[in-house]
Amino acid sequence: MESDISEPEPFQYDAEVDPGEKRHIRYEVGENYLGDSVEIPVTIINGTHGGPTIFLTAAIHGDELNGVKVVQEIADRYQPSELHGTIVCLHVVNVPAYQAQQRYIPIYDQDLNRAFPGRERSNTAERMAHQIYSRFISNCDLGIDFHTSTRNRTTMFHVRADLENEDVEPLARSFGANVILYGAGESKSLRSVATSDGIPTITVEMGRAQRFQPALIDKAVNGVESVLAQYGILPGTPVHWPGWYKVTAADSEKRWLRAETGGLVEMEWGPYPLVHEDETICTITDHFKTEEHVVTAPFTGLIVGVLENPVALPGHPLCHLVRLDTETRDEIEREIRRGEFDGYRMHNGDYGTDD
Ligand SMILES: [Zn+2]
Repeated sequence: MESDISEPEPFQYDAEVDPGEKRHIRYEVGENYLGDSVEIPVTIINGTHGGPTIFLTAAIHGDELNGVKVVQEIADRYQPSELHGTIVCLHVVNVPAYQAQQRYIPIYDQDLNRAFPGRERSNTAERMAHQIYSRFISNCDLGIDFHTSTRNRTTMFHVRADLENEDVEPLARSFGANVILYGAGESKSLRSVATSDGIPTITVEMGRAQRFQPALIDKAVNGVESVLAQYGILPGTPVHWPGWYKVTAADSEKRWLRAETGGLVEMEWGPYPLVHEDETICTITDHFKTEEHVVTAPFTGLIVGVLENPVALPGHPLCHLVRLDTETRDEIEREIRRGEFDGYRMHNGDYGTDD
């Protein structure tokens, strides 16, 4: 890292934010039906000292809120005098969806996270994406994009990253999540486009839509701080390494278990999301309780995503299971025995630590 010797520079979008300056702005990315401007809240903290520029983005899916709180906290926490580099916080990327509290842009349900890098004379999503990408993202060196599970599901705190890219790996690891799901990402997603443009980017998945889950938000704020430390943006701050890592490499190591029958779902696993081969994960019964289908673990693994809505149709995803090697399984079991396993207990049928 050469950040400690680089000269501080202004951050440029349409305007400039000088070294030593922290600015909150509302940036126009489109118009609503009334012809009023649609503006996204942005905070730019340009350090007094030179260094890399990192972006943080939340609510590209409008109902995924945990990241909004993480970005608010980071934007408030740091001052230019302590930074060697620049933090660009896009608090709410998908404002129309956020206002409607739904995942997609309300107009024709367009997915903003399949519209990057965007185009000027295209549909609504691509125009918004173009503004955001060309003004802010393309002027950054690395980035973190915060998501949660989609509605009616929840997800374990984890990172998604293209670990085959050697510039992404230190970013993914220094965030400090126990689980990293490997993959290049969907085409035209912010992560895959930025990464292929030479701006290493990770996605953080955390908990549920439509909630603030304080325990997960705290972990993510620590994760950001750890990344800032790793890249010298916050020199002298320690990087937080997790106790164990599980990195999935191949598709054969992860599987969505799906319902084969319609009915009422009862989750049986827990309180920890570690399941052993052949253990019962859930049962699906008909309304008369005359038929019961038991869903068991095809291999020993970690449940990283799970259905919350208790009714299922054939083909419905029930849970996302990641295969564990013996060594990682032993480490997790040791943590559980010592009472050190971090969160993710099942309370009253819920999954996650949102209290
Ligand atoms: Zn999302």
